[in-house]
Amino acid sequence: MVIPHALVVRLCAQGHVAPLMELSHQLADQGVLVTFVNTEFIHKYVLAALPENFRSNYSGRIRLVTIPDGAVNDEERFILSKMFPLLQYNTPSFIEELILNINEKEEHKITFVIVDGTMGFLLDVAKKLNIPRAAFWPASAWMLFILFKIPTLIDAGVIDLNGFIQEGKLIQLSEGLPAFNPAHLFWVPFGDTNQQEVFFKYLQMCVEHMKGIDHILCNSFPELESPFLKLINNALPIGPLLSTSNSGRQPSSFWAEDFSCINWLDRQPACSVIYVSLGSTTILSKHQLGELALGLELTGRPFLWVSRPTIMENNAAVYSEGFMDRVARRALVVEWAPQKEVLSHPSVACFLTHCGWNSTMEGLFNGVPMLGWPYFADQFLNQTCIVDLWKVGLKLVRDDDGVVGKEEIRKKIEDLMNDEGIRERVSDMKEKGKRAVMEGGASFANLNGFVHTIKREAGNQD
Ligand code: UDP
Repeated sequence: MVIPHALVVRLCAQGHVAPLMELSHQLADQGVLVTFVNTEFIHKYVLAALPENFRSNYSGRIRLVTIPDGAVNDEERFILSKMFPLLQYNTPSFIEELILNINEKEEHKITFVIVDGTMGFLLDVAKKLNIPRAAFWPASAWMLFILFKIPTLIDAGVIDLNGFIQEGKLIQLSEGLPAFNPAHLFWVPFGDTNQQEVFFKYLQMCVEHMKGIDHILCNSFPELESPFLKLINNALPIGPLLSTSNSGRQPSSFWAEDFSCINWLDRQPACSVIYVSLGSTTILSKHQLGELALGLELTGRPFLWVSRPTIMENNAAVYSEGFMDRVARRALVVEWAPQKEVLSHPSVACFLTHCGWNSTMEGLFNGVPMLGWPYFADQFLNQTCIVDLWKVGLKLVRDDDGVVGKEEIRKKIEDLMNDEGIRERVSDMKEKGKRAVMEGGASFANLNGFVHTIKREAGNQD
């Protein structure tokens, strides 16, 4: 009998690791062998950040393997316009070689390939090797639907062939769907026009490869995104894909999680703490960071702030003189938190977030009202979901100089804390998300059906 064995490949970005790792665990729970592919560079980070108990027992049940990323130096890795072409041209042959090697030398051959949609071109490798495949989409179904509609946007003159906006009017892609601002198209908030164009063409190409795929796994659930999910052929919502680090799952953070914040949260009153995390990529100027610090101070409330080592152009944060001393009694600043545990803690009252898709799902799933502060990519569209579609949060508004001022931060946090409607709606969404992944729920059924497909396909290769 052929044992089902899935190869899972993802883009080298923090937000893409966690949901694909969780999916891998769920497949493993149901008897599928999983080989999870990281680039060598990222693997080093993930290993270094692992807690000791995982490092010593690292064989785990999900096997991690690595491929090169083709970059010769870090500049190529960190500048997207250099990294994306490298991934596109190098990784297909690395993945092909990896699969051929496993299939030639190991007892359990790869019987299924699951590819992060933001590396959609790798689906062709599976096709070439005649291995069944599925795409995983790590952002919202709304964003995916928009990407599928790029040809329509070009024909309608909204964007040109290079993705640059030609018309500033709100876009409504289909009757009944919400209109959105073209400035919020995935690739637009990249600022630099060269990067924008490279990113646009890269995404367009990835999404082209996803057309006609039998399964597009989405980290979403029907009650959250039903209008968009219905319009995407073969979309299979299986989310929210969330698990906490204390669930015994192998963690997959690029930075070590600082668990001291949980003890600190234990000492705070229920529903009192502002949790602030701007994800893995947001960079703030020194002035902006200072305004955030002062805004949090002005609230007079306890806060837990994730201030990554790279929050300020590859520098740790520099705070104004005396700030840390003034807030020491009611605040904690950490470099990286176990975010899912934090958001599920009863002391947390609200979440100041950059609106990355994972953070958005984590906030929702824990019923925490959100204050949006998007930085780039899909985050602006996700903010629209949070504020305008689901009405589970508010947004921060920049001033004429593009800065979010301390008074804006203080006021919006106060407004959010006092908004009972938002608290009720986000609690309701939390219950819907929980039901979706429980037995009898839509995501639960979809995932089981997908596992059945993986097993059937392995049987066909018997
Ligand atoms: N995260 C974390 N600790 C932190 C901050 C973030 O574990 O201190 C995790 C968070 O739970 C989420 C991921 O990092 O799963 C960030 O993904 P998201 O899509 O929200 O944003 P990105 O970092 O990709 O912009």
